[in-house]
Amino acid sequence: MGHKQDRPVDSGAVAATRQDTETGPEVVGEASGAYLQLSDAEFRDRIQTAYRRMAACDLCPRLCGAARLSGKAGTCGIALKPRVFVWNLHHGEEPPVSGTRGSGTVFLSGCNLNCCYCQNYPLSQLHHGTEMPVAKLADALVELQIRGAHNINFVTPSHQVPQLLAAVFAARHQGLHIPLVYNTSSYDELSTLALLDGIVDIYLGDLRYTTEDVAMELSGVPNYVQVAERALIEMHRQVGDISMDEQGRYLPRGLIVRYLVLPRHSGMARDVFRFVARHLSEQTYVSVMTQYFPAYRALDPALGIGRKLTDTECDRVMRTWSHSGLVHGWVQDMGDDGGA
Ligand code: SF4
Repeated sequence: MGHKQDRPVDSGAVAATRQDTETGPEVVGEASGAYLQLSDAEFRDRIQTAYRRMAACDLCPRLCGAARLSGKAGTCGIALKPRVFVWNLHHGEEPPVSGTRGSGTVFLSGCNLNCCYCQNYPLSQLHHGTEMPVAKLADALVELQIRGAHNINFVTPSHQVPQLLAAVFAARHQGLHIPLVYNTSSYDELSTLALLDGIVDIYLGDLRYTTEDVAMELSGVPNYVQVAERALIEMHRQVGDISMDEQGRYLPRGLIVRYLVLPRHSGMARDVFRFVARHLSEQTYVSVMTQYFPAYRALDPALGIGRKLTDTECDRVMRTWSHSGLVHGWVQDMGDDGGA
């Protein structure tokens, strides 16, 4: 889910000053993706391993065993070929991702979660999009690079990792060189993340919940917290924290943790920030998103999330932030519409 970035937060700030991306730190302009360092043999090996796992699919923690190589879709709704909703330049991601020229965002169809409030539900839950050959997706990646994208940003990629690896491999032979962003709910299997080690440059990983019963109620999975925390630790191990060069420009490598504040559940902020500070790093960038609005099935009164956040809930989250020990991050204003 893309969004507009408005205000940086720092450890002492409850109400930080506004920052526009034009006046904030820039990103390094001509960066290369880590995947350029991978040999063809190693890259091919990872692709083959990933595809083999779709015979009885265990790519994500659903472990639903779908025979995707035979064209059967799993719980995520996607079978063998890449399925893509749209690709475009996107200016609403966090500053290290969107930079000044935009992020080359690829919105993928299907999802391995079933979030009742998903703002992208036509593609994630209803699977709107187009099935295409890997070669066509590779062409799209190259097109985004030609249009000036700072990076290729795969949105909701966990269930299409084999197809994405194959597309990047093919696009690399056509000159693709910009960094890769893996923009995920963090409901990722460690063995699948291992296939991305040395290939993905920036992880944009959600931490949606800190209690399993709420994850089950709102996203339909029994073990989200355990899985996501483990996955974020692995992402952080692979790429570390976002950092800057000596000229104060963001380098295109690192983990950004996203936290979407939900109505009725803003108390989870304390545990989200605590997890990041204790198990990742106090230097980890956190993107706090307060632009929630009820979509999809969220208006069901039984869920209690059929409204926007209140000022009181937002203030509570920001007060929690100020005591968290975390140093870097952004908060999105309540009025923003959530971008794409
Ligand atoms: S990626 Fe899809 S098919 Fe594979 S285990 Fe997950 S939900 Fe099932």
